Amino acid sequence: MTISTSEPFIKTHEVVLALGSNLGDRIGYLERALKLITKNPKVRFLGVASFYETLPQGSTQEQGNYINTAIALKTELTPEALLKMLLEIEIVLGRKREELNGPRTIDLDIILYEDTSTTTQDLTLPHPRFRDRAFVLLPLRDLLKQSSCLKSDYWKPYRKEYETYHDPNGIVQELEPSSLFRKFRNFS
Ligand code: ADP
Ligand code: MG
Repeated sequence: MTISTSEPFIKTHEVVLALGSNLGDRIGYLERALKLITKNPKVRFLGVASFYETLPQGSTQEQGNYINTAIALKTELTPEALLKMLLEIEIVLGRKREELNGPRTIDLDIILYEDTSTTTQDLTLPHPRFRDRAFVLLPLRDLLKQSSCLKSDYWKPYRKEYETYHDPNGIVQELEPSSLFRKFRNFS
């Protein structure tokens, strides 16, 4: 009888998440989301984009500017399990869905999950509107430029498409990621 002592092979996937907040302590919400996401042992942080202060889009309601960013992760979670975790974190952080494109303490979206393409009732990948949004594409460009993250071949077409992307539409200013995000970047 042969007894195998090797670890079971676990496949991990590189993903890009968009994070946004336009209510209350916006950077505080982004940081709490980062802590909750990375608390999951099935998730490893790979990198963070710049922060962008952006104008709210698609709403007639008076609301404050957003802080948007994106993070790259490595995870063994399926897209569905990852989305479930993100929706739970949104609830923990006080997200209320009262109107379409309304103000929010936190919005957590899966933008890309390697080359996964899917449309179900709850999940569309790649994210259906990411190509129209400078506040997603600029952070995605930042991540694609970092050689330390998003290493798999799945990113090659996006690198070609977005590495030099620059659209100032709706962007108020670019900011350094907050100190907690920088700390994560330094230790990842
Ligand atoms: P938006 O992010 O477009 O402003 P919401 O945050 O209110 O909208 O999300 C509405 C629903 O979108 C979620 O309940 C989720 O089921 C669905 N959804 C579909 N595809 C995705 C995705 N790629 N990432 C996050 N949510 C998604
Ligand atoms: Mg969302």
